[in-house]
Amino acid sequence: MNGQMMHMPLLVSSLLVHAERHHPEQMVVSRRVEGDIHRETFAELAARSRRVANALKRLGVQMSDRVATLAWNGYRHMELYYGVSGSGAVLHTLNPRLHPDQVVWIADHAEDQVLFFDMSFLPIIEAIAGRVKSIKAFVAMTDRAHMPASSKVSNLLCYEDLLAQESDRYEWPEFDEQSACTLCYTSGTTGNPKGVLYSHRSTVLHAFGAALPDALNCSATDAVLPVVPMFHVNAWSLPYIACMVGAKLVFPGPGLDGKSLYELMEQEHVTVSAGVPTVWQGLLGYMEPQGLKFSTMKRTVIGGSACPPAMLKTFEQQYGVHVLHAWGMTEMSPLGTVMAFKPEHLRLSEEERLAVQAKQGRAVFGVDMKIVDAQGQELPRDGSVSGDLLVRGHWIIDTYFKQQDSSPLVKDGAGRGWFPTGDVAKITSDGVMQITDRSKDVIKSGGEWIGSIDLENIAMAHPAVAMAACIAAKHPKWDERPLLVVVKKPAAEVSREDILQFFEGKIAKWWTPDDVVFVESIPLGATGKMMKVKLREQFADYQLPTA
Ligand code: ADP
Repeated sequence: MNGQMMHMPLLVSSLLVHAERHHPEQMVVSRRVEGDIHRETFAELAARSRRVANALKRLGVQMSDRVATLAWNGYRHMELYYGVSGSGAVLHTLNPRLHPDQVVWIADHAEDQVLFFDMSFLPIIEAIAGRVKSIKAFVAMTDRAHMPASSKVSNLLCYEDLLAQESDRYEWPEFDEQSACTLCYTSGTTGNPKGVLYSHRSTVLHAFGAALPDALNCSATDAVLPVVPMFHVNAWSLPYIACMVGAKLVFPGPGLDGKSLYELMEQEHVTVSAGVPTVWQGLLGYMEPQGLKFSTMKRTVIGGSACPPAMLKTFEQQYGVHVLHAWGMTEMSPLGTVMAFKPEHLRLSEEERLAVQAKQGRAVFGVDMKIVDAQGQELPRDGSVSGDLLVRGHWIIDTYFKQQDSSPLVKDGAGRGWFPTGDVAKITSDGVMQITDRSKDVIKSGGEWIGSIDLENIAMAHPAVAMAACIAAKHPKWDERPLLVVVKKPAAEVSREDILQFFEGKIAKWWTPDDVVFVESIPLGATGKMMKVKLREQFADYQLPTA
């Protein structure tokens, strides 16, 4: 016997319809590529998204066609989020930090039909124009007055002209909630990019889960500033969550430096923000020397790579900003866990609580997780054994785009598929997960694992260290030993011995890195994460002093 309740497909357009009906006056504020601050209400956002849908129809875009963007976080990108997906096409957010050859490879693979781009990315468009056969038109996301003259790009259209000629009347179509909604390629820090094709259902359910109090905890009283790019796993769902809960959205556009972010946060009374640790370094680096404080910021979501405990402490103790440490990945839409407290955590001392916050946290409902050994046997949740982390849930990948014949999943005894995250983790009996490493980054010394993240966290707490990465270097006896690669803070004086001494008493002695090398910079990937693959290549022949 079935239940007898209404069936309404979970569609992304329903979020916008809700926002327009129930929060029409709420604002989307954007710093534009043109340089000024732009404001539109949710009602205007909805009307312009409908114009986008009409414009796509005129351009010949059909259900399930891919429509690409190369754009910053801004209101026009948001209009495309809803206009493209809402009309049944698939929004494909390209990462502008990739090399143009990679952009060509990905756009080709996705068979993008139309590409919308922010003016800053014209050089990329010029480099790729004519190289992706499926692309019929390039649309510059600006008005007529700011249109670039480019002889290299044929069929170059103007976004505001396109919208101006359309009606804002459009009926969002109803279709199967399993239909594809957005497409995002993994950033390829561990191999070739792979396409992850989200459905309307997975996207809406993910937004429900991510908005929960013990997740990102968003409400109509919030002003949310996503620093995490809209081309990086849908800005962690914040453009959807804002419509779902009626929160104000503040988009930084191209202004991702500390000064621009700080000023926007203050001017727009931002209460919550989200981004990878490297962007927060820029913000804190701007605020600290001037003694600046936040007046409205309450919390910030830090994820994408491990949040260094030193950063966590600075946010909490110096700025009174609560850090929500989150873990996830492109294949997980992205949210898996958030370190939200349980009652027992509130009774801990401040130092103990900070130590808990440095962990990746508890699973959000909708995601199940477990750790397994090399044979796939589940390991105990005792907080000390670590193993390969597997996940399953409503917004976890089933198969990669155009790889329907090869499943990435591993089956359990009951035949259920689990996605291997490639992360190595521990889980406590009360469900708190801690990533100790990525399986590819693990350092195996004499058959025992050394967690590179732990070593990096300690090094990052040294006052002279701006950035630190720990990689495996070859060792004749132990096979691999940790090598610490360090970028010093400007004008800081520190020696190899100082850094090694800093590890004393903080970890088991045999975990101490065998050597420290100082470098000018550590290569960062397209999503702002340290590219350890590159570092391993660079130091492939490194001779450790003991070797
Ligand atoms: P890529 O795998 O190409 O870097 P993703 O953005 O999908 O792209 O990265 C997901 C990975 O990032 C996770 O598998 C994990 O290794 C790492 N990661 C994400 N959040 C955290 C976190 N809070 N702590 C440690 N690692 C994290």
